[in-house]
Amino acid sequence: MPATHGRTFLITGGAGFIGSHLGEAILADGGRVLAIDDLSTGSLDNISSLLDHPDFRFARASITDQVVLERMASEADVVIHLAAAVGVQLIVEHPVQTIETNVMGTEEVLRAALRYDCRVLLASTSEVYGKGSKFPFAEEDDVLLGATSRSRWGYAASKMVDEFLGLAYWREYGLEVIPFRLFNTIGPRQTGRYGMVVPRFVRQALADEPITVFGDGSQRRCFCDVRDVISAILGLAEHPDSPGRVYNIGATEEVSILDLAERVKTKAGSSSSIEFVSYDEAYAPGFEDMQRRVPSIDRINALLGWEPTRSLDEILDDIVAWERE
Ligand code: UDP
Repeated sequence: MPATHGRTFLITGGAGFIGSHLGEAILADGGRVLAIDDLSTGSLDNISSLLDHPDFRFARASITDQVVLERMASEADVVIHLAAAVGVQLIVEHPVQTIETNVMGTEEVLRAALRYDCRVLLASTSEVYGKGSKFPFAEEDDVLLGATSRSRWGYAASKMVDEFLGLAYWREYGLEVIPFRLFNTIGPRQTGRYGMVVPRFVRQALADEPITVFGDGSQRRCFCDVRDVISAILGLAEHPDSPGRVYNIGATEEVSILDLAERVKTKAGSSSSIEFVSYDEAYAPGFEDMQRRVPSIDRINALLGWEPTRSLDEILDDIVAWERE
């Protein structure tokens, strides 16, 4: 884990799944954490073990609350901007909130960071690769989004605007901005409430309820352990040469969603059936899914020597154990 000792990190979305793991890692390394979260998808449960820590401070506020954001940014060395609308389900159901939170929130964060000269780590997403068909996805590849009539692509476009804006701050003002594209990230504390497949399957399996595979289950994903993701983010936060470029962060081991359902079922010792649900029924009519999504991690590997350390089977064992508790 890179050295965060003695430095102050502002984490937006600090009570979320990834934000809470990040806060924990920074505190464990002797850093100080200021977390801001409106608890729309994050929760106090995620940070219950951090709230009493002397180097942890939490504000329940939106990132568009300028007073809170400014005050926290004024104390920070590094801002890790994770606050965003997340989860395919949420994005399809609340397209206005998705676009506004992602674009306006990032504008506010960049402005505050510029004022107090903070380095900014900007969370983006593999969604920006859209329907690209050249695998693996590399940071300098062209992107191919679907029609504007499909809400899903509004999320991708809003995150692209965030990346453009961040890189523009770097070019025009010299602000140290590092956008990173997260691929599917999993681990303890992730909720299935907003559609994420692994926590949904694990909960369904443990309750012996049908495991809901959308489409025919042949679509494939690569799942990375949240702790590996965090060491990548903190590595980028520390490295002198990371600013001004986008980085993929993700695992490269592919699994089909049907295979995932079967593995989860076995690991949970479950008697669940596997139920196929059409995309129209699962999301919205005309919903477009990606058949594959695989990152090239050459860029971050060349800079930091980073690669995931944990296999899908190990991560699933952990999540099943955690959910059982
Ligand atoms: N998925 C599924 N059943 C569920 C939830 C998701 O089969 O209950 C599928 C989903 O359609 C997608 C994959 O699992 O093909 C990953 O979904 P998730 O929302 O976790 O991530 P993303 O679509 O952003 O890769």
